[in-house]
Amino acid sequence: MTDHRDIEQANNWIELSSSALLHNATLFRRLIGRDLAFMAVVKANAYGHGMLPVAKTIEESCADWFGVFTAAEGLALREAGITVPILVLGATSRDQIDCAVEAGLRLSIMSTRGVKDLLDHPSCARVPVHLKLETGTNRQGLVGAQLPQAVSLLAGGGVTIEGAYTHFADIEDTTDHIFAAGQIDRFTALLEQMDVTVPIPHTACTAATILFSDTHFQMVRVGIGLFGLWPSRETQVSAAALERNDLDLRPVMTWKTRIAQIKDVPTGEYVGYGRTFRATRPTRIAVLPVGYADGYDRKLSGGAHTLVRGTRAPVVGRICMNLTMVDVTDVAQARAGDEVVLLGSVGDESVSAEDLARLADTINYEIVTRAAPGSPRILVP
Ligand SMILES: *Cc1c(COP(=O)(O)O)cnc(C)c1O
Repeated sequence: MTDHRDIEQANNWIELSSSALLHNATLFRRLIGRDLAFMAVVKANAYGHGMLPVAKTIEESCADWFGVFTAAEGLALREAGITVPILVLGATSRDQIDCAVEAGLRLSIMSTRGVKDLLDHPSCARVPVHLKLETGTNRQGLVGAQLPQAVSLLAGGGVTIEGAYTHFADIEDTTDHIFAAGQIDRFTALLEQMDVTVPIPHTACTAATILFSDTHFQMVRVGIGLFGLWPSRETQVSAAALERNDLDLRPVMTWKTRIAQIKDVPTGEYVGYGRTFRATRPTRIAVLPVGYADGYDRKLSGGAHTLVRGTRAPVVGRICMNLTMVDVTDVAQARAGDEVVLLGSVGDESVSAEDLARLADTINYEIVTRAAPGSPRILVP
């Protein structure tokens, strides 16, 4: 794992607050109670936070399960010493099943093809499966006659059906949860139609976990909330209506870079490609070695703020592939080598994933997930 030396050499890096992570996990544990299982969803490098440092921090005290997208991610968790059950949420192709068997992963079954591929594997009986049921998202999921057929084929092959699950289409997109309620009804009806009893039915992502305890079943699958972010404004509004908005989620990620150079730009001069910024006063510019190649979205050009010595410093001109310029005229102390916060807080000032998402016309999920790919991740208290 990363240590401080890597950060000294990195142009940008991510700091993960282990106390925030543990705090958020504890909030969800309190919400669901002792008896249900808590799955920490750590796909996509734990939404950009860093899968291994996140998993290691919460495995012992908080996570009963981990959810990943690919068998390779599950194998990486096993190689890092993670021993709790791991569910692969994506489809696992024929040639990935070996890896899943070796790592002792649970696989999701979402197509007839998936059933056949698994049954063709000589060790298929060693792989417990979770059936993904179609209830309205029309993305992954067994539909109609595929479900009874899968159940009987798997049972015939000696495969254990450990779980059955579904995923909500719009639970975080609206304050009207009629469609989600319909999905629960369809899910329950499908469970009842199955000839076998499934020990672990599960449906709840973060928004469902927060809003509706009838979505919890035997396990919840929490991603974004674990990282201290609300799934959406709509979820916050809905939580307020249910008086559940006191959930004190704490953002885990701080994204940092360091000033590469400071320069003085005279009045009337331009900054950056396209000359979109023109100095209207003698201006001090800090050049940051981070750009859209690092996930610092070009749509943040001319809109985002960074924090330099705890003071807001606006991005000026266009964000480049590897560089960004910020105005530090009002931060007299700014020097080359100073740490700069791109996402996170310093004292009372903060730049949130939601702030950046608004500017980049996307959701907080995408901002954190695409932050600083390949750069070091380090745990801080
Ligand atoms: C990503 C994912 C989750 C987690 O969703 P959050 O909104 O981040 O909590 C849960 N279930 C499935 C199937 C997923 O793919």
